[in-house]
Amino acid sequence: MTDIDQERRAILAEAELDTRAVRAGQVRTHEGEHAEPIFATSSYVFANASEAAARFSGDQPGNVYSRYTNPTVRTFEERIAALEGAEQGVATSSGMAAILTTCMALLKAGDHLICSRSVFGTTTVMLTKYLGKFGVETTFVSPTRIEEWKAAVKPNTRMLFLETPSNPLAEIADIGAIADVARSYNSYLVVDNCFCTPALQQPLALGADIVIHSATKYLDGQGRCVGGAVVGRKEEMAEVLGFVRSAGPTMSAFNAWVFLKGLETLRLRMEAHSASALTLATWLQQQTGIDKVFYSGLPEHPGHELAAKQQRAFGGVLSFRVSGDREAAWRFIDATRLMSITANLGDAKTTIVHPATTTHGRLSQEERDAAGITDNLIRIAVGLEDVNDLKADLSRGLAAL
Ligand SMILES: *Cc1c(COP(=O)(O)O)cnc(C)c1O
Repeated sequence: MTDIDQERRAILAEAELDTRAVRAGQVRTHEGEHAEPIFATSSYVFANASEAAARFSGDQPGNVYSRYTNPTVRTFEERIAALEGAEQGVATSSGMAAILTTCMALLKAGDHLICSRSVFGTTTVMLTKYLGKFGVETTFVSPTRIEEWKAAVKPNTRMLFLETPSNPLAEIADIGAIADVARSYNSYLVVDNCFCTPALQQPLALGADIVIHSATKYLDGQGRCVGGAVVGRKEEMAEVLGFVRSAGPTMSAFNAWVFLKGLETLRLRMEAHSASALTLATWLQQQTGIDKVFYSGLPEHPGHELAAKQQRAFGGVLSFRVSGDREAAWRFIDATRLMSITANLGDAKTTIVHPATTTHGRLSQEERDAAGITDNLIRIAVGLEDVNDLKADLSRGLAAL
């Protein structure tokens, strides 16, 4: 790195979010490229045998092999860390790999974890079925009732895990209050920040220790690649990086490039997703055939005030109950023509899904009832199309009820 590169890095460390999103992490090569290059290489060559030895022993910094380091992946790691206000970031092959890696790196057999009941379905499966097998026990609690978090703490509790807003009902967990619980019991607070992204919410500034991402969603923003990230303090990230290097859930250089280009437009996209979602939520509420709308941007949502405090906007995901049963919800979905019927979210294209028979289909009827995932519930992840065209598409759904 030249002196000017170093100077640039110091300037970026102090710069605003939009500037970091566009420029953090880039170091130009001797080719003078403007856009970040994709380093499609699995290994690196050394000038001589002694340099190879020094790189392998760690005496000399530098690239050895792309499971350890890759310049494109490093650029993405530095950029997502810069956006979250973290000391360091570690890229992973998927969002689930980010969660698994964090648990494997920071927990051991006999430890106890407390997790919000309203987390991504696969997270619940991974924690109970697989981490459980290795002697890490998980207790699930309400994301919104702080007394449940306190009551669940045991002498061996080491990690608290949450997602806010939740999917699909947009429950809002109080990051600062749960961070206080974590701190008083010497545990880590890990926040899955997938739905807000650092453009709307920065959990580390609110007291969390570690932030997880499924880069697959808004960081990409156009539904192309699967990837993830973990960010936090150097101390914990050294453990996380150590696990990725030894176990191998590495991000590919190509995917890292897609994600880091996605980060450049992240805030603009998140504000556009949020603005359209608020418009649609407000409009849906006034339509006959709609029983209830779940979106934290609506003043009557129980998490509205907290969301307004800890988020910059309310995000792109909303859900609603139609009058009727499962048949009615399916008729509504099938009548739309623009929206994509898919469970993915965080895309420029709006998606529509029936949670009870897809994302939450693995739960039992009682579990779904307890979680409020009724048969007449529909979730949409609002994209970047013209909001009036989206209204017209939802009107097709309403007409089919
Ligand atoms: C999709 C998702 C994940 C898992 O990410 P993958 O990239 O699919 O592995 C984790 N958490 C949340 C909130 C998600 O939406």
